[in-house]
Amino acid sequence: MTTSQEKQFDFAVVGRGLMGTACASHLARAGARVLLIGPDEPQDRSTHDGPFASHHDAGRITRAIAENADWSRLAIRSIERYAELETVLGQSFYHPCGILMAGPQSGPSADFTRGFLNSADRLNIPIQTLDDRALKARFPFFNFPEDTCGGWENLGGWINPRLYRQALEKMACLHGAHVSTETVSARDGTTLTTRSGQTLQADHIVLATGAYARTDTLLQKTPDMGAYARTVVLAEVDEKTAGDLETMPSVITMPENRRMDEDLYLLPPIRYPDGKLYIKIGGEPVSSSLTSDAEMSRWFKSKGSQDAVEDIKQHLYRMLPNVPFISLTTDTCVISFTKTKLPFIERLNDGLTILTGGNGASAKSCDEIGRLGALTALGKSLENEGYDADFRAAFQ
Ligand SMILES: Cc1cc2nc3c(=O)[nH]c(=O)nc-3n(C[C@H](O)[C@H](O)[C@H](O)COP(=O)(O)OP(=O)(O)OC[C@H]3O[C@@H](n4cnc5c(N)ncnc54)[C@H](O)[C@@H]3O)c2cc1C
Repeated sequence: MTTSQEKQFDFAVVGRGLMGTACASHLARAGARVLLIGPDEPQDRSTHDGPFASHHDAGRITRAIAENADWSRLAIRSIERYAELETVLGQSFYHPCGILMAGPQSGPSADFTRGFLNSADRLNIPIQTLDDRALKARFPFFNFPEDTCGGWENLGGWINPRLYRQALEKMACLHGAHVSTETVSARDGTTLTTRSGQTLQADHIVLATGAYARTDTLLQKTPDMGAYARTVVLAEVDEKTAGDLETMPSVITMPENRRMDEDLYLLPPIRYPDGKLYIKIGGEPVSSSLTSDAEMSRWFKSKGSQDAVEDIKQHLYRMLPNVPFISLTTDTCVISFTKTKLPFIERLNDGLTILTGGNGASAKSCDEIGRLGALTALGKSLENEGYDADFRAAFQ
């Protein structure tokens, strides 16, 4: 990579996250000269002064079933390509242990249950329906209230988002993409300036900076999305307990008396980079909105919200009452929710495409979202891609 007046790259994709890396891989596969720019994962969060990312974790739920048909399509098309990417990486990142959706059959939160049952029906996604007795027989370690109805889908489970991203980057590089670990500090048309003072040019820029699209100035207008501070609890278990929980699926559940978007999620024991096994649980009903890069950094460096930890802990102990947890630690992350509740994928002008808006559900589907981003950046229409939505962005 050189500083250049002669445009060396057709595309510069800013953001080596899940969407940006997937987009770069599809652009490179289409024969374009691609530069993918963004920092590596910080080794020490406390001293890092660049952007953080929402995929720096060992587990994300994957599933075909979703409230909205387009989310299902994005997921299914991505899941279908996991195996190819695992071959490229030489390592697996997809663990199809199943996904269990579970909610009350009556009361205010029953809309959640009706929602996933209707979606499965409407979208023709095979699920097994289990009442509370069948749930107890199949997953004896879970404790759900009596009125619960579950839907089990076997395509679901969890992915390792770090490895998924690595596979996408490897795919991009195999097709000639270049990678820079710089952080972009300014954009003037199709000219980018990095923090180290380099000037980079490409014919077209794709901004895939995750939740930072809401808080930074690279876009020069603010997408209509919120960036929300999320707290995660990691509950450590030993090898024996992990063995006892061998059949545990990923879970999305709706505790009684919560609103539709306040579901709780739980992943089976996963080995984290520290060598320990953790059950990951999250989904607090209230989280604060982050409106500046400085607020984002402070949040990522923090230990999360103590109120959220207390709430999540209660749910963990209720759902897995007989599991002997060794320790509980917390982690932080940021979720972005767009006005359309779908990713923003739009070519804003000849030199700029926006690709962002994970809505808490894009890790598993990033390959297909990135492919749509690549088509858009190439100036192609998404009209015949089989989606109901046009994925256009909204701005404040
Ligand atoms: C707690 C939590 C749980 C989640 N659970 C799930 C789940 O179970 N299943 C699921 O599918 N999804 C889940 N998600 C959502 C998923 O992780 C996100 O949708 C996904 O990471 C979004 O990808 P992205 O590429 O848009 O953003 P990111 O992954 O955040 O990547 C953005 C990248 O842009 C880079 N960047 C930012 N600014 C600059 C700059 N100026 N210059 C260069 N680079 C820059 C960052 O360093 C980062 O690498 C969860 C998210 C959170 C927070």
